[in-house]
Amino acid sequence: MSKGDHVDLSRFIEGVKKRNLGQPEFVQAVQEVAEDIFDFIADKPDYHDYQILRRIAEPDRIISFRVCWEDDNHNIRVQRGWRVQNNNSIGPYKGGIRFHPSVTESVLKFLAFEQTFKNALTGLPMGGGKGGANFNPKGKSDHEVMRFCQSFMTELYRHVGADVDVPAGDIGVGGREIGYMFGQYKRITNQFTGVLTGKGLEYGGSLIRPEATGYGAVYFLANMLKTKGQDLKGKTAVISGSGNVATHAAEKVTQLGGKVLTLSDSGGFIHDPDGISQEKIDWIKVHKTKRRGRIEDYVSEFKGATFTAGKTPWGVPCDVALPCATQNELLGDDARTLVANGCIAVAEGANMPTDLDGVHVFKAAKILYAPGKASNAGGVAVSGLEMSQNSERRSWKEAELQQLLLDIMEGIHERCLAYGRVSDDYVDYVKGANVAGFKKVADAMLAYGV
Ligand code: GLU
Repeated sequence: MSKGDHVDLSRFIEGVKKRNLGQPEFVQAVQEVAEDIFDFIADKPDYHDYQILRRIAEPDRIISFRVCWEDDNHNIRVQRGWRVQNNNSIGPYKGGIRFHPSVTESVLKFLAFEQTFKNALTGLPMGGGKGGANFNPKGKSDHEVMRFCQSFMTELYRHVGADVDVPAGDIGVGGREIGYMFGQYKRITNQFTGVLTGKGLEYGGSLIRPEATGYGAVYFLANMLKTKGQDLKGKTAVISGSGNVATHAAEKVTQLGGKVLTLSDSGGFIHDPDGISQEKIDWIKVHKTKRRGRIEDYVSEFKGATFTAGKTPWGVPCDVALPCATQNELLGDDARTLVANGCIAVAEGANMPTDLDGVHVFKAAKILYAPGKASNAGGVAVSGLEMSQNSERRSWKEAELQQLLLDIMEGIHERCLAYGRVSDDYVDYVKGANVAGFKKVADAMLAYGV
């Protein structure tokens, strides 16, 4: 067997760029991971010789398909859908489906790559994948969404399965969309299996799955604060987004005694100096999910709040920040502002919300900074528990699931500490998450041979 190239980091990144032209999000995600992994594998020749990182950064398979559907005016619409199956070394491919106009192959490749590390960190047997389409559910009728979901699954069904690849929700895909896709899978295959997670409770879904990503991110944040002898009581929090992750993160921060100052959507952010209480969060949940309204309507509902159009909330001074909207929503300058304003901890609820410049700012400032692959893993973790319940054909009790989520988030935090401790008073959680996730997948790959 010929030995792999013992290339240095910059040559490796150059190679990734050349092979993935026009795919900036994917290159960014690989670069962030490679910076840590090269350090870790410097004295471990097997990982180099067997080109492990190079192989993880090359999806096993990318399925690309046409999705045709009929809108309410009887126009035939044509769109592209994908499933990126990144790596199944430690379990079936697992990861969400995203419906959003910003979806490209690059975005789904970065998400599937990140998912591989995230899923490994949970300690559950799940590989990494991601799918989606450039379909915009905004402004579409319920029937249009149904027809799109059915057409999407008519293509996807042959590539997924309970032991093959188990999709779930992500941006633009919630309980309604999962229901339509699961129904179509069942119709076509005549099988009732755990092929999707995030299902309704009536047909094999798990309790606490909707809450899990947001709650998990706050548990991770609390674990980080604990290493400094602190907790969330009395702390101010700036949160972006107002979907499933953001609202549940806000709920948990509030329950743990913190004060949530902001939430946002693509139109801008609201700032409520009195704090976004549980009652207000409940209103947002109904307004955004059921009525599919805008966050700016909050200011006519609750006095004292302001809406800032076209901006992200990072300029609002706070103790802790939770970016829970989307990728690259927190840039280098935003990170500098947060640090300058005294923010001590950032836990990502979204996937790769901080750009590479911002990551470097947080690392240099040595604040508590958790990358999404560690702090937002609670969602996919409970998806993993939904898979277990489906295999057993049982439904576990809420208290049991709540405890498992707490334990899993604590376990991820421990794994980050094990590989990310730099000194007595500083833990590099990015490095910890990257190395711990990599090691598990890499060791399985080594065991299998090439
Ligand atoms: N889309 C979520 C994530 O980014 C959940 C994936 C899942 O439950 O499979 O982790």
